[in-house]
Amino acid sequence: MTGPAEVRHHRGVPPSSHPPSSSGVVGAAGRYPVAEDRALALTLAGRSLLPVGPLRMYTCGITPYDVTHVGHAATFVWADLVTTLARATGTGAVVARNVTDIDDVLTDAARSRGRHFDELALMQEFLFDRDMKALSVAAPTTSPHARAHVRAVTRLASALLAVDAAYEVDGHVYFRGADVPESAGLDESTALKLSHRYGDQDGVPGRESVFDVPVWRPSAENDPAWPSPWGWGRPGWHAECAAMVVCSLGTSVDVLLGGVDLAFPHHAYQSAMVEAATGVTPFAGSVVHVGEVRRDGRKMAKSTGNLVLVGDLLEVYPGAALRLGLLHRAWAEPWECETAVFDAAGAVLAELVSLADTAVGHGDAADGGAAVPSHQGVLRRLVDDLDVPGAVSLALTEGGDAASYLLDVLKLRAR
Ligand code: ZN
Repeated sequence: MTGPAEVRHHRGVPPSSHPPSSSGVVGAAGRYPVAEDRALALTLAGRSLLPVGPLRMYTCGITPYDVTHVGHAATFVWADLVTTLARATGTGAVVARNVTDIDDVLTDAARSRGRHFDELALMQEFLFDRDMKALSVAAPTTSPHARAHVRAVTRLASALLAVDAAYEVDGHVYFRGADVPESAGLDESTALKLSHRYGDQDGVPGRESVFDVPVWRPSAENDPAWPSPWGWGRPGWHAECAAMVVCSLGTSVDVLLGGVDLAFPHHAYQSAMVEAATGVTPFAGSVVHVGEVRRDGRKMAKSTGNLVLVGDLLEVYPGAALRLGLLHRAWAEPWECETAVFDAAGAVLAELVSLADTAVGHGDAADGGAAVPSHQGVLRRLVDDLDVPGAVSLALTEGGDAASYLLDVLKLRAR
C-alpha cells in the first residue's frame, strides 16, 4: 500500500548523487530532503507545533454547489503548505478535509437546476478536485462527507444531551451556545450579526438563547431527511463538522484551518460542541484562519457576484504562478485579487527557475555541519509562521540550491 508523501530519515547524502541511499519526501512535484535540524518545528500563529505523532489537521472543505473561486483556492493552497512543511520537518501529517454535502444552499442550488442534491455535489466535487490538482494541492489523507456522518451527528446530539449541553424542542436538538460568543472574543451584537449572516438565526423555533444552534433539525417535505431518535431530519452545519472531525482525527486536532469567514460562528461552535461532548480541551492546538480574498474591495463571494474562478485564471496563468500568487503574502492578510498579483508571481517564478538552473544539489551538512545548508535557511523561514515572502526573498538572494529547494518545497515545478 502506498501512503501519502513518504517520509524517511535523511542520512546527509544528496539525493541526486546517490539515489539508492537517498531519502526525503516524495511529493507530487519532486523530492526534497527532510530537515537535518531535529529541533526545527513548525510555528503557526505564535504556537510551536511539535506533535509526537503526525500533525493532525482538519481543513474546512467545500460545500459542493458551485465552481471553485480564488477565495476557496487560497485556503486549500495554504493548508497544503502546512502539511508539506510538517512533512519537511519530519513530523508527518494526517489531514481531513471535509465535504459539506448536506446543506440547504446545496439543496436549493440542486433544486433550481432540476437535479438531485447528491448528483450536483458529485459533479462539483469532480471539478473542485481538477482545480486543486492544477494548483498542486495534494489530496487529503481522508475526505469525510457529511452524508456518511449523519449517524455520527445523532451520536453527537445524544452525547450533548447526556451532559445537558443540548436540549430537544419539537424535533430539534439545540446546542447551548450562550457562552460561545464570549469564548470567541466577540461582543453579543457582533456575534448576533455574524450568526445572522451565516444562517444561524433561520428556522430555529423554541430556542432558549439566540446563540443556541441546531445539532439536529427536522426536515421540510422536500429537504433531505434521515431518521433519528427525534424524528426525521438533518444535521446542523456546525454539528456536521464536529462529528466529521471526531470520526476522522479523534477528540482534538493540532491545527484547525479554514477561511477567516469560518471563525465565527462555524469554528467557534464546532470547537465548543466537540469540547462539550468529549471533555477534551482545547479542541484545536492552533487555529489558522486564512485572510479574506477581495475583489473590487469586497469579500469574494457568490452572493456578492464578484467571483474570480480558478478555472478562468488557469487559462491565462500556469498553476505554479497561481499557487505562488496565493502564497506570496502573510497567510492572515486580506488581499485584493487582481491580475497584477499573478503577473508578479509569474515573474518571480521565472527568476527562481532561472536561478535554480545553477543549483549543484541540496547543500547538506556533509562537511560536519559548520555551514547552514542553503535549503535549511529557506525551510527555517517557511516554518516560521509560513513566511513565504521571507523564503522567496532569501532564495532570490542566494540563488542556486536555495532557489531550487524553494521551488520543490512550495511545489512550483512545472509538471
Ligand atoms: Zn467546517
